Amino acid sequence: MNSATQKKFADYIRDEVVTIGDPFLSEATRQVTNLEEVAPLCDLMVKKLREELKGAGLAANQIGVPARILVAELRKNELFPTRPESPLYIMINPEILSYSDEMIDDWEGCFSIPNMVALIPRHKSIVVKYITLDGVEHKETFSEHIARTIQHEVDHLDGILYFERIKDLSKIVTRDNFMKYVLKKDL
Ligand SMILES: [Zn+2]
Repeated sequence: MNSATQKKFADYIRDEVVTIGDPFLSEATRQVTNLEEVAPLCDLMVKKLREELKGAGLAANQIGVPARILVAELRKNELFPTRPESPLYIMINPEILSYSDEMIDDWEGCFSIPNMVALIPRHKSIVVKYITLDGVEHKETFSEHIARTIQHEVDHLDGILYFERIKDLSKIVTRDNFMKYVLKKDL
């Protein structure tokens, strides 16, 4: 074992979210084998998601850590005032086992692509296998918005950004223009 592989996941944590153009975002992430090791990292990710980013999901590699961990929790926010809410999910080693044929288009943003929103097709429902911090393995079906969020975050863990999923390049807007022209909200 060389020194690089002995590096703990926590040693990789960055203060700033890793943004598009940083080659790290397209690198492969690693399976988690030690749940105890990643528990504080999961806490940090939840805290960042809720308090700092106020978003729906975060993948570990977005804060610099090459581990297969995602956190997801749908809340209404300024950008998505009508979306349904969800419980908090902390998924270790998530794997999408199957996808519905049916696709849905909807708007997505990403902390790694600041101030942009785009219309992205996603599978309407998915079956996901993942482990929780207590070591229990889950196999669960997710639909609609939370399925979209999980697909977005698993893509991150596979080194894929949502811009790579855009089918209609005319459906890319700035955050401000999304609020003004799509939500039709006064700024
Ligand atoms: Zn993202």
